[in-house]
Amino acid sequence: MKNICRNILLLLLAVVPSGIMAQALIAEEVSIQRQIEMVETTALRSMLLNEENAIPASHIYPEWTNTKVHFKHALPDSFRIDLRDFVMPTTNTKITDKFGYRPRRKRVHNGLDIKVERGDTIYAAFDGKIRITAYQRKGYGHYVVIRHNNGIETLYAHLSKKLVTVNENVKAGDPIGIGGNTGRSSGPHLHFETLLLGNCLDPALMFDFKNQDVTGDFYMYRKPGTKYIENGVVKIAGPKEKYHIVRSGETIGKIAAKYGVEQGMIFKLNKLTPRSIIRPGQRLRYE
Ligand SMILES: [Zn+2]
Repeated sequence: MKNICRNILLLLLAVVPSGIMAQALIAEEVSIQRQIEMVETTALRSMLLNEENAIPASHIYPEWTNTKVHFKHALPDSFRIDLRDFVMPTTNTKITDKFGYRPRRKRVHNGLDIKVERGDTIYAAFDGKIRITAYQRKGYGHYVVIRHNNGIETLYAHLSKKLVTVNENVKAGDPIGIGGNTGRSSGPHLHFETLLLGNCLDPALMFDFKNQDVTGDFYMYRKPGTKYIENGVVKIAGPKEKYHIVRSGETIGKIAAKYGVEQGMIFKLNKLTPRSIIRPGQRLRYE
């Protein structure tokens, strides 16, 4: 292996005559053997580094593209995300909108909104590589997507300015943009998404902006419905089921509005139809 590497390097050096390494080779005062040793170590180190940084988390991602944020690749039953070595994307702590379905706008909010001031620096959450930098006039405005070595991707939207370019490697804490109000946004804020294989996860499962911390050293993603064993007990992963006890005078419409869910969801979860009659004391699942 070592010999193959050395041969590749010598070949590379023969093809690329310029650069520091080649210059070192030319310098007469250093012996040829010493030059080769020097070159090998530095070049090998940078070769390994480049390999590691070439495509972050390539073991789980099928490809590297500079388009399409949400490509929805099938999720594994479980995946452990290393949250150590994080940097909070903003020092601001105020959440102005949560992740999930918003009945008022009849659409899902794919991320968390954090209040920022125009001009605030936005930082990369973990080490990784810039996958997308783009502008969406009616959506994200100026935005950046980073694929991280830990397997998740983070998205930063409504920036007034992007400070990075595609395929650039970044370290956790590197400035990647300036906070702003571009795209579909009413007031300067950071729209922050966390994605696994193109699927949006609630950033609050990993990031606690209020306390400027992550939720733990690791976050274990589990596909809803999968069985797993914890402390010898079989558990089923999932969004927790939530219930409402019907009070007199309440309709499914009222209950749906109360919890910010769709009526249709309540029908489905409880095997009801719009014609079904609900009575006080009845337990209805709404989530
Ligand atoms: Zn948002």
